Amino acid sequence: MDQTMRRVQKGALTYYVCTRLPVRHAFTTKFGGVSAGPCESLNLGFGRGDTEENVRKNYALLADALGVPAARFTLTKQIHEDEVSVVSEQESGMGLQKPMAWQSDAIITALGDTPLVGFGADCVVTLLYDPAARVCGVCHAGWRGTAKGILGKTVAQMAEKLGAHPETMVAVMGPSIHQECFETDSDVPDEMERLLGAMVRPFVMEKGEKFHVDLQGVNAALLARAGLRPENIVDSGLCTMCEHQTFWSHRHTNGVRGVQAGVICL
Ligand SMILES: [Zn+2]
Repeated sequence: MDQTMRRVQKGALTYYVCTRLPVRHAFTTKFGGVSAGPCESLNLGFGRGDTEENVRKNYALLADALGVPAARFTLTKQIHEDEVSVVSEQESGMGLQKPMAWQSDAIITALGDTPLVGFGADCVVTLLYDPAARVCGVCHAGWRGTAKGILGKTVAQMAEKLGAHPETMVAVMGPSIHQECFETDSDVPDEMERLLGAMVRPFVMEKGEKFHVDLQGVNAALLARAGLRPENIVDSGLCTMCEHQTFWSHRHTNGVRGVQAGVICL
């Protein structure tokens, strides 16, 4: 785990924070909610076999713990693409209180009291914050989103639409599957190199007939290319597969699972 990460216990709720983010935020774990079965217990995803009532209760518990308004949780719609959406007043609460207007794996905002939520169960969920411009964002990237460069595009959209400055931005990559555990066939590194070019190569390790891609490494390189300073790029170092007792891992569970989230709120 990175030295800037802290494990927080608040009542039954367990989550991780990063000391580099001086705003309300969390990377949630399995612990502290009301869901049962494979979704036990803090499942934050709809459509995972959990009841809607349980998921809503879990959001209410999370809102209490973080001191954010539950009615304004605003959710990503994750389809492994590279669209980035700005959350303005009209869109706040989308995904929980009202239907979504977007299919965006990344959402960004300058609004206060508007917790942004991105989901993962191996994928890289990154929280972004610019203390100079007071804007924030959350970005979901599995290997496909990583290959499409969505994290760099999120930084660019924060700069273009919200006046953020990449040189003062901080990005924290949350619990996600790390290189040792992320075994693939050649299709994954091939497609990543097709879209991102030779920059991918240092992050691919060959092991016999299999490949291991360092998703956090590629995403860190994308952040650096987007203008972030190396010291402002944090990988939590938490691997969802190694720590599957704390986090849901899509691979470890063969997809029968709940989902955890990265949340950030100005
Ligand atoms: Zn691992």
